[in-house]
Amino acid sequence: MFLYHYRDPRSPSRRAHDQAESDNEAVRVAMRRRLPVIYFFGIVPGRYRPFYPAYVVADHPERREFSLDLTELGARHLDDLASDAPSRSYRAQIVRSRMHQARFREAVMRAYQSSCAICRLKRSELVEAAHIVGDADGGEPVVPNGMALCKLHHAAFDRNILGVRPDLRVAIRQDILEEVDGPMLLHGLQDFHGLQLSVIPRRRDDRPSADFLERRWEQFRSA
Ligand SMILES: [Zn+2]
Repeated sequence: MFLYHYRDPRSPSRRAHDQAESDNEAVRVAMRRRLPVIYFFGIVPGRYRPFYPAYVVADHPERREFSLDLTELGARHLDDLASDAPSRSYRAQIVRSRMHQARFREAVMRAYQSSCAICRLKRSELVEAAHIVGDADGGEPVVPNGMALCKLHHAAFDRNILGVRPDLRVAIRQDILEEVDGPMLLHGLQDFHGLQLSVIPRRRDDRPSADFLERRWEQFRSA
């Protein structure tokens, strides 16, 4: 269950108070009428990711909070929730993971100024937040386990065509280095072999952690 705090007035004025109360009342109406609402999850101040449909399933006036169901299973009331608890808890895990990934992407993009760490490409539609140690291998969605990579370098990294050494140098797998093909292979991959990462976060705490890099480097070497 996700909690949504009541809206509080932004200023002590009567008008702000009434506005906040009427917003809270609107949420109550959605609960009573069992209407779906859109939940805007805050990624960073001023940036949100919408979750839809969200259902308001309970009101807790003593804590000034509402409980929301974001599992898309169409919960109408708390009483219904117990019946499909396993699929509900699985769906809730997916929603939580989406929330973490959204914050991870934002934080990695910020640390790398939205540029691919390998080639500097800065076209945000083509740049992604890559995990150094993958999700499935227990890699957490935290900046020191991330790198901003363009789609080509992300895919090459995930498939062990390209590796990043613990000293932040790029390595291209031997068979790929020996391959002869067009300019994309040459300039897109082979030319980066042995070079230092092009973009490294300014803040030390944001840089790839040696631990994660070493774990991942071992995987690359045994590929
Ligand atoms: Zn790139």
